[in-house]
Amino acid sequence: MARIRDDLRALSGYHSPQVDVRVRLNTNEAPFAPPPTFSSSLAERLGAVEWNRYPDRAASALRSRLAELHSVPTEWVLVANGSNEVLQSILLAFGGNGRRAVVFEPGYQMHAQIARNTGTRVETIERNDEMLIDIDAARASLSAGEPAVVFVTSPNNPTGRSEPRDTVRALIEQAGEHLIVIDEAYVQFSDTDLLDLLSEDAPVIVTRTFSKTWGMAGLRLGYAIASAELIGALELVTLPYHVDSAKQIAGELALDFVAEMDARVNETVAERERLRARLIELGVDVGPSDANFLLIDTGSRSAGQVWEGLVERGVLVRDCSGWPGLAGRLRVTVGSPPENDAFLTALEEVLR
Ligand SMILES: *Cc1c(COP(=O)(O)O)cnc(C)c1O
Repeated sequence: MARIRDDLRALSGYHSPQVDVRVRLNTNEAPFAPPPTFSSSLAERLGAVEWNRYPDRAASALRSRLAELHSVPTEWVLVANGSNEVLQSILLAFGGNGRRAVVFEPGYQMHAQIARNTGTRVETIERNDEMLIDIDAARASLSAGEPAVVFVTSPNNPTGRSEPRDTVRALIEQAGEHLIVIDEAYVQFSDTDLLDLLSEDAPVIVTRTFSKTWGMAGLRLGYAIASAELIGALELVTLPYHVDSAKQIAGELALDFVAEMDARVNETVAERERLRARLIELGVDVGPSDANFLLIDTGSRSAGQVWEGLVERGVLVRDCSGWPGLAGRLRVTVGSPPENDAFLTALEEVLR
């Protein structure tokens, strides 16, 4: 029998149960596809690809368009198969044996999972009562011990809150050999953008994705922005030609539709606030959110039973109640207006 690594044996993967239902509000995808002209132009451009050739290894065209979008040099951008591949590259380059990843809980579970996959020790720090980073606890951790990769998610998944700029700045300025990763998968839905914390010599990498805002979870495209030196370190561990020709073309083309995507983000934010206001009217405990999802507290009701009741009515949300610090919580992605109405109707029935 082939023997799996001992440190992986006890782990189970990160899966969102996929149930075949009408309304899927469990993985924070956008409720709409990219604009029709995106799809037709993409089909045309794919017809001209020389499939017998390897793609542009440096993905130069796509990287320079992203660099332009964010007003940084092209050498400050790395593209990859979803931001999860970016996170993996970060941990391959800066984590590993004798190093640690610092994560704040509740938080995005893939940070800890990818850390473990790469043999990086995981250190967990609990969030404060407001579900924000406890800066004193974080500082104490960083001032002692092994080099660390610190994961800051802003807005955070699944709590939905953005991290105050001063907190993140304090983490960056704390002396030590650590790297701060700012995962901004949901930043377009928020008023707080931490990109300006990047600089030539700041130990900071910002990660972004096309999966949420852009309505392109199926494309698997994410990227990192950081100083040329840090991006160079990530390039050491990426596989040759990891970003295929089709993805490079689709990503570049998507950037012709920034205005359309911004309009859709605004619609989602408006829907989020409508949904939240209605939930409050229904007496549901729901926190503020800067992302495209809401976290609700099922209170005296069992979260598992509420989740099942919703599934029976054709609505799938994410049951987070088994995650650390999230007893009783369900996470619901903001969908299209009819999807959100279907969720509200189903929830009202379940709670009645
Ligand atoms: C969804 C999500 C991602 C996105 O991962 P992709 O691999 O780009 O699809 C990254 N970070 C967080 C916090 C997320 O919730």
